[in-house]
Amino acid sequence: MKFGGTSMAGTERIRRVANIVRRQQAAGHEVAVVVSAMAGETDRLVTFCREANALYDPAEYDVVVAAGEQITAGLLALTLQAMGCKARSWLGWQLPVRTDDAHAKARIESIDSAALLASMAAGEIAVIPGFQGLSPQGRVTTLGRGGSDTSAVAVAAAVRADRCDIYTDVDGVYTTDPRIVAKARKLEYVTYEEMLELASVGSKVLQTRSVSLAMKEGVRVQVLSSFIDDDAPPADNLPGTMIVSDEELARIQGDLEMESQLITGIAADKNEAKVTLTRIADRPGAVATIFGPLAAANINVDMIIQNVAKDKGETDVTFTVTRADLARTQAMLEAQQEAIGYFRMIADSKVAKVSVVGVGMRSHAGVAATMFRALADRGINIQAISTSEIKTSVLIDEDETELAVRVLHTAYGMDAE
Ligand code: ADP
Ligand code: ASP
Ligand code: MG
Repeated sequence: MKFGGTSMAGTERIRRVANIVRRQQAAGHEVAVVVSAMAGETDRLVTFCREANALYDPAEYDVVVAAGEQITAGLLALTLQAMGCKARSWLGWQLPVRTDDAHAKARIESIDSAALLASMAAGEIAVIPGFQGLSPQGRVTTLGRGGSDTSAVAVAAAVRADRCDIYTDVDGVYTTDPRIVAKARKLEYVTYEEMLELASVGSKVLQTRSVSLAMKEGVRVQVLSSFIDDDAPPADNLPGTMIVSDEELARIQGDLEMESQLITGIAADKNEAKVTLTRIADRPGAVATIFGPLAAANINVDMIIQNVAKDKGETDVTFTVTRADLARTQAMLEAQQEAIGYFRMIADSKVAKVSVVGVGMRSHAGVAATMFRALADRGINIQAISTSEIKTSVLIDEDETELAVRVLHTAYGMDAE
Protein backbone atom coordinates (compact mmCIF):
# COMPACT_ATOMS: atom_id res chain seq x y z
CA MET A 1 0.00 0.00 0.00
CA LYS A 2 1.37 3.43 -0.91
CA PHE A 3 0.02 6.73 0.36
CA GLY A 4 0.85 10.04 -1.33
CA GLY A 5 1.47 13.50 0.11
CA THR A 6 -2.12 14.73 0.49
CA SER A 7 -3.06 11.43 2.15
CA MET A 8 -0.25 11.94 4.72
CA ALA A 9 -0.73 15.70 5.30
CA GLY A 10 -1.18 15.95 9.07
CA THR A 11 -2.14 13.88 12.10
CA GLU A 12 -5.81 13.49 11.16
CA ARG A 13 -5.04 12.32 7.64
CA ILE A 14 -2.43 9.88 8.93
CA ARG A 15 -4.99 8.47 11.33
CA ARG A 16 -7.29 7.86 8.39
CA VAL A 17 -4.46 6.12 6.53
CA ALA A 18 -3.71 3.97 9.59
CA ASN A 19 -7.36 2.93 9.62
CA ILE A 20 -7.23 1.85 5.99
CA VAL A 21 -4.04 -0.10 6.66
CA ARG A 22 -5.51 -1.75 9.74
CA ARG A 23 -8.61 -2.83 7.81
CA GLN A 24 -6.48 -4.37 5.11
CA GLN A 25 -4.51 -6.35 7.69
CA ALA A 26 -7.74 -7.41 9.41
CA ALA A 27 -8.93 -8.78 6.05
CA GLY A 28 -6.11 -11.32 6.30
CA HIS A 29 -3.29 -9.64 4.40
CA GLU A 30 0.32 -9.13 5.36
CA VAL A 31 1.01 -5.50 4.46
CA ALA A 32 3.96 -3.26 3.77
CA VAL A 33 3.20 0.46 3.52
CA VAL A 34 5.21 3.01 1.55
CA VAL A 35 4.62 6.68 2.40
CA SER A 36 5.34 10.09 0.86
CA ALA A 37 6.26 13.22 2.76
CA MET A 38 3.38 15.50 3.78
CA ALA A 39 2.02 17.51 0.84
CA GLY A 40 4.22 20.54 0.17
CA GLU A 41 7.02 19.32 2.44
CA THR A 42 9.43 18.22 -0.30
CA ASP A 43 8.99 21.57 -2.08
CA ARG A 44 9.77 23.33 1.19
CA LEU A 45 12.94 21.30 1.69
CA VAL A 46 14.05 21.93 -1.91
CA THR A 47 13.66 25.68 -1.30
CA PHE A 48 15.90 25.44 1.78
CA CYS A 49 18.60 23.76 -0.33
CA ARG A 50 18.41 26.54 -2.96
CA GLU A 51 18.61 29.20 -0.26
CA ALA A 52 21.57 27.54 1.40
CA ASN A 53 23.53 27.12 -1.81
CA ALA A 54 22.27 27.95 -5.30
CA LEU A 55 24.71 25.46 -6.81
CA TYR A 56 23.90 22.77 -4.30
CA ASP A 57 25.68 19.43 -4.18
CA PRO A 58 23.06 16.79 -5.14
CA ALA A 59 24.40 14.40 -2.49
CA GLU A 60 23.63 16.89 0.29
CA TYR A 61 20.33 17.88 -1.39
CA ASP A 62 19.35 14.20 -1.00
CA VAL A 63 20.20 14.29 2.72
CA VAL A 64 17.78 17.19 3.12
CA VAL A 65 14.87 16.18 0.88
CA ALA A 66 14.81 12.52 2.00
CA ALA A 67 13.91 13.78 5.49
CA GLY A 68 10.24 14.45 4.68
CA GLU A 69 9.49 10.76 4.25
CA GLN A 70 11.37 9.77 7.41
CA ILE A 71 8.93 11.89 9.43
CA THR A 72 5.74 10.46 7.91
CA ALA A 73 7.03 6.87 8.15
CA GLY A 74 7.67 7.29 11.88
CA LEU A 75 4.35 9.05 12.43
CA LEU A 76 2.39 6.31 10.67
CA ALA A 77 4.14 3.61 12.74
CA LEU A 78 3.32 5.57 15.92
CA THR A 79 -0.31 6.02 14.88
CA LEU A 80 -0.70 2.31 14.09
CA GLN A 81 0.83 1.43 17.46
CA ALA A 82 -1.62 3.79 19.17
CA MET A 83 -4.42 1.74 17.56
CA GLY A 84 -3.00 -1.45 19.02
CA CYS A 85 -1.31 -2.69 15.82
CA LYS A 86 2.25 -3.95 15.68
CA ALA A 87 4.15 -1.64 13.34
CA ARG A 88 7.80 -0.99 12.51
CA SER A 89 9.45 1.55 10.21
CA TRP A 90 12.30 0.65 7.85
CA LEU A 91 14.30 3.55 6.42
CA GLY A 92 15.93 3.31 2.99
CA TRP A 93 19.38 2.67 4.47
CA GLN A 94 18.07 0.10 6.92
CA LEU A 95 16.44 -2.35 4.50
CA PRO A 96 18.42 -1.30 2.44
CA VAL A 97 16.94 0.00 -0.82
CA ARG A 98 20.09 -0.10 -2.97
CA THR A 99 20.30 2.48 -5.75
CA ASP A 100 22.95 3.79 -8.13
CA ASP A 101 24.77 7.00 -7.16
CA ALA A 102 22.89 9.39 -9.49
CA HIS A 103 21.90 11.71 -6.64
CA ALA A 104 18.49 13.42 -6.92
CA LYS A 105 17.43 10.97 -9.65
CA ALA A 106 18.78 7.62 -8.47
CA ARG A 107 17.56 4.29 -9.85
CA ILE A 108 16.70 1.39 -7.57
CA GLU A 109 18.99 -1.59 -8.16
CA SER A 110 17.74 -4.02 -5.53
CA ILE A 111 15.81 -4.22 -2.28
CA ASP A 112 16.83 -6.62 0.45
CA SER A 113 13.48 -8.10 1.45
CA ALA A 114 14.66 -10.53 4.18
CA ALA A 115 14.08 -8.22 7.17
CA LEU A 116 10.83 -6.99 5.66
CA LEU A 117 9.43 -10.47 5.10
CA ALA A 118 10.44 -11.56 8.60
CA SER A 119 8.77 -8.51 10.13
CA MET A 120 5.58 -9.02 8.15
CA ALA A 121 5.49 -12.74 8.95
CA ALA A 122 5.69 -11.81 12.65
CA GLY A 123 2.47 -9.82 12.23
CA GLU A 124 4.11 -6.42 12.06
CA ILE A 125 3.02 -3.78 9.59
CA ALA A 126 6.17 -2.62 7.80
CA VAL A 127 6.27 1.12 7.12
CA ILE A 128 8.78 2.30 4.52
CA PRO A 129 9.55 5.90 3.56
CA GLY A 130 9.28 6.25 -0.21
CA PHE A 131 11.62 8.27 -2.43
CA GLN A 132 14.83 7.32 -0.57
CA GLY A 133 17.61 4.80 -1.03
CA LEU A 134 21.26 4.03 -0.35
CA SER A 135 24.10 4.56 -2.85
CA PRO A 136 26.99 2.10 -3.39
CA GLN A 137 29.09 4.61 -1.39
CA GLY A 138 26.70 4.26 1.54
CA ARG A 139 25.11 7.69 1.13
CA VAL A 140 21.42 8.64 1.11
CA THR A 141 19.89 9.01 -2.37
CA THR A 142 16.47 10.09 -3.65
CA LEU A 143 14.65 8.84 -6.73
CA GLY A 144 13.45 12.03 -8.43
CA ARG A 145 10.20 13.90 -7.77
CA GLY A 146 7.16 11.70 -7.42
CA GLY A 147 9.51 8.78 -6.70
CA SER A 148 7.51 7.19 -3.89
CA ASP A 149 5.36 5.49 -6.53
CA THR A 150 8.50 3.77 -7.77
CA SER A 151 9.54 2.83 -4.22
CA ALA A 152 6.14 1.19 -3.73
CA VAL A 153 6.30 -0.83 -6.94
CA ALA A 154 9.88 -1.90 -6.15
CA VAL A 155 8.89 -3.07 -2.66
CA ALA A 156 5.89 -4.92 -4.12
CA ALA A 157 8.19 -6.66 -6.60
CA ALA A 158 10.75 -7.48 -3.91
CA VAL A 159 8.23 -9.19 -1.61
CA ARG A 160 6.26 -10.64 -4.54
CA ALA A 161 3.09 -8.90 -3.40
CA ASP A 162 -0.29 -9.89 -4.80
CA ARG A 163 -0.96 -6.25 -5.54
CA CYS A 164 0.46 -2.75 -5.18
CA ASP A 165 -2.28 -0.31 -4.19
CA ILE A 166 -1.37 3.34 -4.83
CA TYR A 167 -3.65 5.48 -2.66
CA THR A 168 -3.97 9.12 -3.68
CA ASP A 169 -6.41 12.05 -3.69
CA VAL A 170 -8.45 10.88 -6.71
CA ASP A 171 -10.25 7.54 -6.93
CA GLY A 172 -8.45 6.24 -10.01
CA VAL A 173 -6.92 7.10 -13.36
CA TYR A 174 -9.20 9.29 -15.43
CA THR A 175 -9.45 9.99 -19.16
CA THR A 176 -7.68 13.25 -18.31
CA ASP A 177 -6.81 15.22 -15.16
CA PRO A 178 -10.18 15.45 -13.36
CA ARG A 179 -9.03 18.71 -11.76
CA ILE A 180 -8.87 20.32 -15.20
CA VAL A 181 -11.78 18.67 -17.02
CA ALA A 182 -14.90 18.17 -14.92
CA LYS A 183 -16.27 15.74 -17.52
CA ALA A 184 -13.28 13.39 -17.24
CA ARG A 185 -14.32 9.76 -16.81
CA LYS A 186 -12.76 7.24 -14.48
CA LEU A 187 -11.18 4.24 -16.20
CA GLU A 188 -11.59 0.79 -14.68
CA TYR A 189 -8.59 -0.58 -16.54
CA VAL A 190 -5.57 0.91 -18.30
CA THR A 191 -2.81 -1.10 -19.95
CA TYR A 192 0.80 -0.72 -18.77
CA GLU A 193 1.79 0.69 -22.14
CA GLU A 194 -0.95 3.31 -22.14
CA MET A 195 -0.21 4.29 -18.54
CA LEU A 196 3.47 4.53 -19.40
CA GLU A 197 2.74 6.90 -22.30
CA LEU A 198 0.24 8.93 -20.23
CA ALA A 199 2.73 9.30 -17.39
CA SER A 200 5.59 10.23 -19.70
CA VAL A 201 3.55 12.94 -21.45
CA GLY A 202 2.42 14.61 -18.24
CA SER A 203 -0.21 12.66 -16.23
CA LYS A 204 1.52 12.86 -12.89
CA VAL A 205 -0.86 10.45 -11.17
CA LEU A 206 1.94 7.84 -11.37
CA GLN A 207 5.66 8.47 -11.80
CA THR A 208 6.75 7.16 -15.22
CA ARG A 209 9.44 4.94 -13.76
CA SER A 210 6.99 3.22 -11.45
CA VAL A 211 4.95 2.14 -14.45
CA SER A 212 7.90 0.80 -16.42
CA LEU A 213 9.08 -1.09 -13.35
CA ALA A 214 5.60 -2.56 -12.78
CA MET A 215 5.47 -3.61 -16.43
CA LYS A 216 8.90 -5.22 -16.27
CA GLU A 217 8.28 -7.02 -12.98
CA GLY A 218 4.65 -7.89 -13.66
CA VAL A 219 3.41 -6.07 -10.54
CA ARG A 220 -0.39 -5.65 -10.39
CA VAL A 221 -0.99 -1.96 -9.65
CA GLN A 222 -4.24 -0.34 -8.54
CA VAL A 223 -4.74 3.45 -8.21
CA LEU A 224 -7.42 4.35 -5.65
CA SER A 225 -8.48 7.02 -3.17
CA SER A 226 -7.51 7.30 0.50
CA PHE A 227 -10.32 9.83 1.01
CA ILE A 228 -12.93 7.19 1.83
CA ASP A 229 -15.35 6.32 4.64
CA ASP A 230 -15.21 3.20 6.78
CA ASP A 231 -18.06 1.66 4.79
CA ALA A 232 -16.34 2.15 1.40
CA PRO A 233 -15.77 -1.04 -0.61
CA PRO A 234 -12.46 -2.69 0.36
CA ALA A 235 -9.41 -2.45 -1.92
CA ASP A 236 -9.76 -6.16 -2.73
CA ASN A 237 -12.99 -5.36 -4.65
CA LEU A 238 -10.87 -3.22 -6.98
CA PRO A 239 -12.74 0.08 -6.53
CA GLY A 240 -9.98 2.06 -8.29
CA THR A 241 -8.22 1.69 -11.63
CA MET A 242 -6.25 -1.49 -12.37
CA ILE A 243 -3.16 -1.29 -14.56
CA VAL A 244 -3.17 -4.49 -16.60
CA SER A 245 -1.40 -6.16 -19.51
CA ASP A 246 -2.78 -6.09 -23.08
CA GLU A 247 -3.74 -9.76 -22.80
CA GLU A 248 -5.53 -9.29 -19.50
CA LEU A 249 -7.48 -6.34 -20.89
CA ALA A 250 -8.52 -8.32 -23.97
CA ARG A 251 -9.79 -11.08 -21.64
CA ILE A 252 -11.72 -8.63 -19.47
CA GLN A 253 -13.23 -6.91 -22.50
CA GLY A 254 -14.26 -10.30 -23.87
CA ASP A 255 -15.91 -11.28 -20.58
CA LEU A 256 -17.74 -7.98 -20.18
CA GLU A 257 -18.42 -7.65 -23.91
CA MET A 258 -16.89 -4.22 -23.62
CA GLU A 259 -15.92 -2.29 -26.69
CA SER A 260 -12.32 -1.19 -26.83
CA GLN A 261 -11.82 2.56 -26.73
CA LEU A 262 -10.00 4.30 -29.54
CA ILE A 263 -8.43 6.86 -27.19
CA THR A 264 -7.76 6.08 -23.53
CA GLY A 265 -6.57 9.40 -22.22
CA ILE A 266 -5.32 12.92 -22.78
CA ALA A 267 -2.45 14.59 -20.93
CA ALA A 268 -0.86 18.02 -20.93
CA ASP A 269 2.68 19.04 -20.06
CA LYS A 270 3.70 22.65 -19.44
CA ASN A 271 7.26 21.71 -18.73
CA GLU A 272 8.69 22.11 -22.25
CA ALA A 273 10.36 24.95 -24.11
CA LYS A 274 10.78 25.40 -27.87
CA VAL A 275 13.99 26.39 -29.64
CA THR A 276 14.22 27.30 -33.34
CA LEU A 277 17.46 27.71 -35.28
CA THR A 278 16.98 29.47 -38.63
CA ARG A 279 18.81 29.15 -41.92
CA ILE A 280 20.91 26.08 -41.26
CA ALA A 281 22.73 24.60 -44.24
CA ASP A 282 20.70 21.72 -45.71
CA ARG A 283 23.53 19.19 -45.90
CA PRO A 284 24.46 15.88 -44.26
CA GLY A 285 25.75 16.34 -40.73
CA ALA A 286 24.16 19.74 -40.06
CA VAL A 287 21.63 18.38 -37.58
CA ALA A 288 24.25 16.21 -35.89
CA THR A 289 26.26 19.33 -35.05
CA ILE A 290 23.21 20.65 -33.12
CA PHE A 291 22.18 17.55 -31.20
CA GLY A 292 25.60 16.04 -30.57
CA PRO A 293 26.67 18.70 -28.05
CA LEU A 294 23.22 18.66 -26.39
CA ALA A 295 23.44 14.91 -25.89
CA ALA A 296 26.94 15.26 -24.48
CA ALA A 297 25.57 17.77 -21.96
CA ASN A 298 22.85 15.28 -20.94
CA ILE A 299 20.07 17.51 -22.32
CA ASN A 300 17.06 15.49 -23.48
CA VAL A 301 15.40 16.63 -26.71
CA ASP A 302 11.75 15.69 -27.14
CA MET A 303 10.03 16.90 -30.33
CA ILE A 304 12.07 17.75 -33.45
CA ILE A 305 11.02 19.26 -36.78
CA GLN A 306 13.18 20.13 -39.74
CA ASN A 307 11.51 22.16 -42.44
CA VAL A 308 11.86 21.48 -46.14
CA ALA A 309 14.82 23.37 -47.56
CA LYS A 310 13.96 26.75 -49.02
CA ASP A 311 15.87 28.38 -51.90
CA LYS A 312 19.56 28.68 -51.10
CA GLY A 313 19.69 25.14 -49.58
CA GLU A 314 18.86 26.46 -46.13
CA THR A 315 16.40 25.11 -43.60
CA ASP A 316 14.98 25.84 -40.11
CA VAL A 317 15.16 23.32 -37.25
CA THR A 318 12.77 23.45 -34.28
CA PHE A 319 12.97 21.23 -31.19
CA THR A 320 11.84 21.12 -27.56
CA VAL A 321 13.72 20.57 -24.29
CA THR A 322 12.49 20.77 -20.69
CA ARG A 323 12.18 24.31 -19.33
CA ALA A 324 14.78 23.52 -16.72
CA ASP A 325 17.28 22.79 -19.51
CA LEU A 326 16.44 25.84 -21.67
CA ALA A 327 19.08 28.22 -20.32
CA ARG A 328 21.82 25.61 -20.67
CA THR A 329 20.62 24.74 -24.17
CA GLN A 330 20.74 28.37 -25.27
CA ALA A 331 24.20 28.90 -23.82
CA MET A 332 25.47 25.76 -25.52
CA LEU A 333 24.05 26.64 -28.93
CA GLU A 334 25.28 30.24 -28.71
CA ALA A 335 28.78 28.96 -28.12
CA GLN A 336 28.42 26.68 -31.15
CA GLN A 337 26.87 29.23 -33.53
CA GLU A 338 29.82 29.21 -35.89
CA ALA A 339 30.24 25.44 -35.95
CA ILE A 340 26.51 24.84 -36.55
CA GLY A 341 26.19 27.82 -38.90
CA TYR A 342 22.67 29.02 -38.05
CA PHE A 343 21.43 32.58 -38.56
CA ARG A 344 19.18 33.19 -35.55
CA MET A 345 18.08 31.33 -32.40
CA ILE A 346 14.50 31.85 -31.17
CA ALA A 347 13.45 30.41 -27.79
CA ASP A 348 9.91 30.23 -26.40
CA SER A 349 8.95 28.70 -23.08
CA LYS A 350 5.28 29.71 -23.24
CA VAL A 351 4.35 26.43 -24.89
CA ALA A 352 2.58 23.27 -23.79
CA LYS A 353 2.46 19.76 -25.14
CA VAL A 354 -0.94 18.09 -25.36
CA SER A 355 -1.05 14.36 -26.11
CA VAL A 356 -3.73 11.80 -26.86
CA VAL A 357 -2.91 8.18 -25.99
CA GLY A 358 -4.60 4.90 -26.86
CA VAL A 359 -3.71 1.42 -28.12
CA GLY A 360 -6.65 1.78 -30.52
CA MET A 361 -4.41 4.02 -32.63
CA ARG A 362 -2.52 0.98 -33.85
CA SER A 363 -5.50 -0.29 -35.78
CA HIS A 364 -7.57 2.79 -36.55
CA ALA A 365 -6.92 5.57 -39.04
CA GLY A 366 -7.93 9.18 -38.50
CA VAL A 367 -6.98 9.70 -34.86
CA ALA A 368 -4.52 12.48 -35.67
CA ALA A 369 -6.86 14.02 -38.25
CA THR A 370 -9.61 14.33 -35.60
CA MET A 371 -7.13 16.02 -33.28
CA PHE A 372 -5.95 18.58 -35.84
CA ARG A 373 -9.53 19.34 -37.00
CA ALA A 374 -10.82 19.85 -33.45
CA LEU A 375 -7.96 22.21 -32.58
CA ALA A 376 -8.28 24.12 -35.87
CA ASP A 377 -12.01 24.65 -35.29
CA ARG A 378 -11.13 26.49 -32.06
CA GLY A 379 -8.37 28.48 -33.73
CA ILE A 380 -5.61 26.73 -31.78
CA ASN A 381 -2.37 26.78 -33.74
CA ILE A 382 -0.12 23.70 -33.80
CA GLN A 383 3.59 24.52 -33.55
CA ALA A 384 5.03 21.00 -33.67
CA ILE A 385 3.80 17.42 -33.88
CA SER A 386 5.25 14.11 -32.78
CA THR A 387 3.83 10.62 -32.77
CA SER A 388 4.53 7.13 -31.48
CA GLU A 389 2.63 3.93 -32.14
CA ILE A 390 -0.01 4.70 -29.51
CA LYS A 391 0.34 8.49 -29.02
CA THR A 392 0.00 11.77 -30.90
CA SER A 393 1.37 14.98 -29.35
CA VAL A 394 1.08 18.60 -30.44
CA LEU A 395 2.87 21.66 -29.17
CA ILE A 396 0.62 24.71 -28.66
CA ASP A 397 0.54 28.08 -26.89
CA GLU A 398 0.58 27.55 -23.12
CA ASP A 399 -2.47 29.78 -22.60
CA GLU A 400 -4.59 27.42 -24.70
CA THR A 401 -3.72 24.22 -22.79
CA GLU A 402 -6.91 23.76 -20.78
CA LEU A 403 -9.10 24.70 -23.75
CA ALA A 404 -7.29 22.21 -26.00
CA VAL A 405 -7.63 19.36 -23.49
CA ARG A 406 -11.36 20.04 -23.09
CA VAL A 407 -11.96 20.34 -26.83
CA LEU A 408 -10.15 17.07 -27.54
CA HIS A 409 -11.92 15.28 -24.71
CA THR A 410 -15.21 16.16 -26.37
CA ALA A 411 -13.97 15.48 -29.91
CA TYR A 412 -13.06 11.87 -29.05
CA GLY A 413 -16.42 11.31 -27.36
CA MET A 414 -14.92 10.83 -23.91
CA ASP A 415 -17.06 13.30 -21.91
CA ALA A 416 -18.95 11.81 -18.98
CA GLU A 417 -22.75 12.25 -18.89
P1 ADP B 1 0.23 11.81 -4.62
O1 ADP B 1 0.63 12.93 -3.71
O2 ADP B 1 -0.80 10.92 -3.99
O3 ADP B 1 1.37 11.06 -5.21
P2 ADP B 1 -0.11 13.29 -7.09
O4 ADP B 1 -0.47 14.72 -6.91
O5 ADP B 1 1.30 12.95 -7.42
O6 ADP B 1 -0.60 12.51 -5.80
O7 ADP B 1 -1.03 12.64 -8.22
C1 ADP B 1 -2.45 12.72 -8.12
C2 ADP B 1 -2.95 13.85 -9.01
O8 ADP B 1 -2.69 13.52 -10.38
C3 ADP B 1 -4.43 14.10 -8.97
O9 ADP B 1 -4.78 14.97 -7.93
C4 ADP B 1 -4.73 14.70 -10.35
O10 ADP B 1 -4.88 16.11 -10.29
C5 ADP B 1 -3.48 14.38 -11.17
N1 ADP B 1 -3.78 13.74 -12.45
C6 ADP B 1 -3.23 14.09 -13.65
N2 ADP B 1 -3.70 13.35 -14.64
C7 ADP B 1 -4.58 12.47 -14.09
C8 ADP B 1 -5.41 11.42 -14.62
N3 ADP B 1 -5.42 11.13 -15.92
N4 ADP B 1 -6.18 10.73 -13.76
C9 ADP B 1 -6.17 11.00 -12.44
N5 ADP B 1 -5.42 11.99 -11.87
C10 ADP B 1 -4.63 12.72 -12.69
N1 ASP C 1 7.92 13.50 -1.61
C1 ASP C 1 8.52 13.28 -2.91
C2 ASP C 1 8.06 14.36 -3.88
O1 ASP C 1 7.29 15.23 -3.50
C3 ASP C 1 8.23 11.92 -3.46
C4 ASP C 1 6.76 11.61 -3.67
O2 ASP C 1 5.90 12.23 -3.07
O3 ASP C 1 6.46 10.68 -4.45
O4 ASP C 1 8.47 14.38 -5.01
MG1 MG D 1 2.69 11.46 -6.85
